[in-house]
Amino acid sequence: MAKDIKSMTLKELGELMAALGEKPYRARQVFGWLHEKKAVSYEDMTNLPISLREKLGAYPITVLEKVAVQTSEKDGTQKYLFRLQDGNVIESVRMRYHYGDSVCISSQVGCRMGCRFCASTLGGLVRNLLPSEMLEQIYRIEEETKERVSHVVVMGSGEPMDNYDNLLTFLRLITAEEGHNLSQRNITVSTCGIVPGIRALMKEKLQLVLALSLHAPTDEKRRLLMPIAAKYPLDEVLSACQEYYEETGRRVTFEYSLVAGQNDTDEDAALLARRLKPLKGHINLIPVNPVAERDKIRRPRRSDVEKFKIKLEKYGINVTIRREMGTDIDGACGQLRRRYMADGPVVP
Ligand code: SAH
Repeated sequence: MAKDIKSMTLKELGELMAALGEKPYRARQVFGWLHEKKAVSYEDMTNLPISLREKLGAYPITVLEKVAVQTSEKDGTQKYLFRLQDGNVIESVRMRYHYGDSVCISSQVGCRMGCRFCASTLGGLVRNLLPSEMLEQIYRIEEETKERVSHVVVMGSGEPMDNYDNLLTFLRLITAEEGHNLSQRNITVSTCGIVPGIRALMKEKLQLVLALSLHAPTDEKRRLLMPIAAKYPLDEVLSACQEYYEETGRRVTFEYSLVAGQNDTDEDAALLARRLKPLKGHINLIPVNPVAERDKIRRPRRSDVEKFKIKLEKYGINVTIRREMGTDIDGACGQLRRRYMADGPVVP
């Protein structure tokens, strides 16, 4: 099969042009069509000679098909369901903030990390997404809304560090000056704590925000919620985060989903504060979004969430309760996709 053209860097496109006997400047033209103008076919590329367009016909252009959109009546958050060319479906979320549009993208179809509270992992991993399929979630949303996406969070379904090479190519493509030209500072990559991935990413010296899904203050408790904790203990994960900060100058953000009775006690807050204090990172508290298939995962009361926050603040930790977006539209990762697969097509 021909290599996926929308996943090629400008350099790789240059090599392709050379192989096709074309002038080098054609690479930049094709790249601009694919990534800046978001062309979906070679016919659109009107400044290319017909002979080149015909040769390129052997390299299909990856495009996602919108299956459904749900729009929150509360805050305008939109959840998009997209069909990939092999028939799999994935979801992406668009959030509107005062500073611009932010899109949360999926990095895999399904996930194999097995976190106990997460809907994305219930059916296991189906496959990795290609760089083009990550890009397309952003491009199709922009084409639909006619608004530029200014922020991207890789925090949808899937574990980005479990699809590391494609993640890195995606990051290079979305920040390419000749393409979408997204600022590195406006990208967040969220991981459940795969240490070799964190270490590899820091060596790239990108100005990204790294978000670490922590969810518990001790290994013992973390293992109950996140099976990956058995492979990478907290000491290792947190020292990788510290190194990430030292290498890139960018502070790590910690995600902490509060699950009633499992990680939300005063003692949990105290242990958490002690662990995080030296890292100077920011904590986002997220009251867990209950998932139908996980009946042991209960959401804490609002007052308990507030208490947890105040406790952390007393220890001098920087903390916010994440403003929840789109809770009326299957907001939690993977919930819309699961409902789609169980019930059949959602009416757009
Ligand atoms: N695999 C990556 C990114 C995807 S999950 C990671 O683990 O970080 C994005 C974030 O949502 C993670 O912090 C994840 O733990 C959290 N999350 C997943 N399901 C949730 C739920 N039902 N309620 C609250 N947070 C959830």
